Amino acid sequence: MTAAYDVIIVGAGAAGGVAACVLAEAGKSVLLIERGRGRSYGDSGHRDHLRNHRLQAYGVNTGPDIEGNPRVFVDPLGESHVVRPHENGYHNNAATVGSGTFVYGGLAWRFHPDDFRMASRYGVPDGSSLADWPVSYDDMAPWYQRAEIEIGVSGKGGANRNEGPRARDYPMPPIGPNRATGMLAQGAAALGLSTFTPPLLINSIAHGGRPACIRCGSCVGFPCPSNGKNGTQNTVIPRALATGRCELMTETVVERVATDDVGRVIGVDIVSTGADVTPVRRRILSRSVVLSAGAIETARLLLLSASDREPHGLGNAHDLVGRHLQGHVYPTAFGLFEEEVQDSQGPGVTIATTDYNHGNDGIVGGAMLADDFVMLPIIFWKTALPDDLPRYGLAAKHFMRDGFRRVAQIKGPVHEIPDPDCRVQLDDDVRDRFGRPVARLSGVVHAETMRTTMFMLEKAHDWMRASGAIRTWGGSPPRRLSAGQHQAGTCRMGTDPATSVTDPFGRVWGHENLFVCDASLHPTNGGFNPVLTIMAMAFRNAFHLSERL
Ligand SMILES: Cc1cc2nc3c(=O)[nH]c(=O)nc-3n(C[C@H](O)[C@H](O)[C@H](O)COP(=O)(O)OP(=O)(O)OC[C@H]3O[C@@H](n4cnc5c(N)ncnc54)[C@H](O)[C@@H]3O)c2cc1C
Repeated sequence: MTAAYDVIIVGAGAAGGVAACVLAEAGKSVLLIERGRGRSYGDSGHRDHLRNHRLQAYGVNTGPDIEGNPRVFVDPLGESHVVRPHENGYHNNAATVGSGTFVYGGLAWRFHPDDFRMASRYGVPDGSSLADWPVSYDDMAPWYQRAEIEIGVSGKGGANRNEGPRARDYPMPPIGPNRATGMLAQGAAALGLSTFTPPLLINSIAHGGRPACIRCGSCVGFPCPSNGKNGTQNTVIPRALATGRCELMTETVVERVATDDVGRVIGVDIVSTGADVTPVRRRILSRSVVLSAGAIETARLLLLSASDREPHGLGNAHDLVGRHLQGHVYPTAFGLFEEEVQDSQGPGVTIATTDYNHGNDGIVGGAMLADDFVMLPIIFWKTALPDDLPRYGLAAKHFMRDGFRRVAQIKGPVHEIPDPDCRVQLDDDVRDRFGRPVARLSGVVHAETMRTTMFMLEKAHDWMRASGAIRTWGGSPPRRLSAGQHQAGTCRMGTDPATSVTDPFGRVWGHENLFVCDASLHPTNGGFNPVLTIMAMAFRNAFHLSERL
């Protein structure tokens, strides 16, 4: 049997889209397989405030389908719950061409240089699996630059005084302020904090053949009405297809990685899934396979692909696949102001500080703090009302009327201290619509993560008060499993096969032609939103693979 493709890539999200482009442009034949379908603004629930990726109250706008895709979530008390994609505990990202990049807010951070050497800087807290990355900021800098230019980021190079060295400015200037920005800037200045406009994967001017952001108020959780938000679906995936060497197969689930009698990877087993289609199964052969299915599904696929040679799953000889699952805990402070601070002009994230990412006395790591994307009224109702206000009756309604335009928020993604017991396993009892064991998610974040969270919460309140808020409230989520839309870490890369799943380029130990290329690789997940790092790493690793194929 001959291989039909040089590479099969599983998952057309952030990393998979980048890898497809790099490999196809390098002359390789590529099959990019995505379980979801390609979507447009019009067919993705752009007006539905109850079913989107910011508020998944009754469903989601890009999948996976509510029925047929359960997971099992083990709560902090050890109780197992079967959960559907929009329910708490599922830790959904998205399932469409572009994945989360189709509906994300687009915060585009480079990690801090010390984010790549957390264990060296802080030591390893008891019970944690804190580790250094096998690459440094300097290794990543050229690939960050490539992601910023080729996907398209707006921002001001050099404005973030805590950033590592950068060779070039962003390709677009920053997006403008909104009504709260000036007050938050004054508050930060009073505290001695440095601030700047956060970098965004959003066009501040026409760029890449698409128009600028129209500053609508429904950015995060929705596709973009002007197509001025840059995801893989409107940048690198079209480039890959334009080469004529990349095929995109949608509504197709990769069921397992196929191996031969001696355990060598030979391709993938797929099942086509279109709603009206009777599932059809077949095997597709390739010279190499790249898993870019996101941190939960990539780990699940390796576990589902157990062979005679590797009965516990591919790359899992040391019981590491699926461990160290992490994301970000978000402490949030809300502030009520005398005057209006909310003009609902999108995207809404306008000011950030990175002064607390490191160097906090007695604290491991820290977080970037920023204001946030424009809140839908329903999200304001569900998350932003003061703690002591009833969620019903006149007082709540009056607060909605009087407070909606007078409340600002400050929040930040805490750099998590990974825990080996936070993990993805296969559930023996619950199956998906194709009969495959589903992902079983368990564990709670490490105690050190909560300590950093409480420290950052206090800093967020301080900033809000210094900015003139007459009242502040808001706290931290309870201690529980973290993963969600920033899920990462389940197939960590490293230099030692006994403590990592892949080598520093994502090659699964023990396999010459099986690669992981997505957030699963992150040994730690930074004190920042992760997607620019995922894309930069995909540029780097796919380039490396293209040189060797
Ligand atoms: C609403 C929202 C807002 C966000 N905002 C930000 C932000 O502002 N900044 C930021 O940094 N990050 C943000 N994120 C997170 C960001 O989108 C993710 O970190 C990123 O997409 C993860 O990249 P990945 O390559 O690891 O996986 P993904 O991008 O999730 O790609 C995985 C793909 O694999 C597909 N797949 C899975 N299993 C299979 C299978 N068996 N067969 C075929 N296909 C499969 C999935 O459908 C998916 O398309 C946001 C996400 C969401 C949903």
